[in-house]
Amino acid sequence: MFVAQMPREDEYDSPADLSFIQSQWLEAKTFLPEIFGEVRYNSWLRHLEYKDFFSGRLVLSAPNRFMRDWISLNCAEPLFVFLKSRIPSVLSVDVVVSSDAPSEASPVIASSETRITSSEQPLEEVREELGSRLEPRYVFENFVVGKPNELAYAAALKVAESQKVTFNPLFLYGGVGLGKTHLMHAIAWHIRQNQPHRRVVYLSAEKFMYHFVRALRFKNIMAFKEQFRSVDVLMIDDFQFISGKDSTQEEFFHTFNALVDQNHQVIISADKSPSDLEGLEERLRSRLGWGLVADIHPTTYELRLGILTAKAETMEKEIPLKVIEFLAHKITSNVRELEGALTRIVAHSMLVGREITVESAQDLLKDLLRAHDRRVSIEDIQRKVAEHFGIKVADMHSAKRLRSIVRPRQVAMYLAKIMTPLSLPEIGRKFGGRDHTTVIHGVQKIEELMATDMNLSEDIDLLRRMLNSL
Ligand code: ADP
Ligand code: MG
Repeated sequence: MFVAQMPREDEYDSPADLSFIQSQWLEAKTFLPEIFGEVRYNSWLRHLEYKDFFSGRLVLSAPNRFMRDWISLNCAEPLFVFLKSRIPSVLSVDVVVSSDAPSEASPVIASSETRITSSEQPLEEVREELGSRLEPRYVFENFVVGKPNELAYAAALKVAESQKVTFNPLFLYGGVGLGKTHLMHAIAWHIRQNQPHRRVVYLSAEKFMYHFVRALRFKNIMAFKEQFRSVDVLMIDDFQFISGKDSTQEEFFHTFNALVDQNHQVIISADKSPSDLEGLEERLRSRLGWGLVADIHPTTYELRLGILTAKAETMEKEIPLKVIEFLAHKITSNVRELEGALTRIVAHSMLVGREITVESAQDLLKDLLRAHDRRVSIEDIQRKVAEHFGIKVADMHSAKRLRSIVRPRQVAMYLAKIMTPLSLPEIGRKFGGRDHTTVIHGVQKIEELMATDMNLSEDIDLLRRMLNSL
């Protein structure tokens, strides 16, 4: 664990201590791979550099606008929270493009939490902080509708468009990264634009809890109640984080009832339906199901294709249809990963100035694709290789030393080495109990040959693809 002598808060701003902040940043940076994952770190956060520090504002630079935007969109909150936890004098974090002067750059990561430390805040300020910032991209126009999400979309649009409350609450649920937050923001934008007199507040369940706990601590629970109950449209995202926290649930229940009684709209999202959410009080559970409960199903190939196509149109770079189809086919988990993959490919191609191809995509997304790929078994490899070279599968295990058999056997060993997690001795055993040195020799031989023998390297490429598509 990292331990450092922290200077007192008032010691920070002097010039000598600026280098201290810088070194604190470098320390903190070493933890980023662990927090954000190696992949995100290597593709994005690794490029962040210390630029400046003044009046509590830590300015970091990214190599280009694209990276800055990606980081601010995807990592802003956790990055700020983490840096603040390590460097207490940091009140906000801005990411700028390397060449920009900090004063001209727009703050892309800034936290309103910073002002929250004072208990004598005027009520107006508290009001402003009630909700969270809305993402400009998350509007109905950018939401691609398909079978899996058509009900949720229609319900969201209906709530956004109607002047009166139709179903209360609207409860949206579905797995992670399928568009719940996007739909909620879209409702909020729509109402703000078309019915500006209605007060819309969007916030995460965690933030709701945070406000509640703070109100308890500063003994202004009345103000808390008053604030939330005067809202016309209240949206709480990721409601599953409230379940289990008794006093918050209780308070939410009261707020909820008060709003519904006044005919104000409540919109909730969660990862499960009300009946499947754990740790929920019975009366709240049943109340949540009173309105419309709409689920978002996992994506289909068609929807993924639609989303990628729409997204690709907004990018500065041409993306071949083949690559889009490849991604839609391979990345099936959720839309966030899908978008992440596309962004990574585009960012990479812009950085290195090369065209986007299926091969480069495959290479760049290795880690992601591996997680999605079914593990190829050594038996599959032996079977396919034997088939390809017209030998018997049994020859993979036999002691025969004919060139026409040895070579395919070595190819199979090579593929086993690169496509399975097996160790060399394990691979040896699967080839008629051969020694691991034989496997090493075989693998090396193939690597050598591939460098000069085009036919062989094409054969191997073909086999790999065939095995990957099994
Ligand atoms: P959730 O809140 O369900 O975890 P999000 O709303 O955060 O998911 O969506 C994850 C990402 O995928 C967002 O960037 C969002 O814009 C995008 N997304 C999800 N569904 C769609 C869709 N149908 N059309 C366009 N973008 C989508
Ligand atoms: Mg969400």
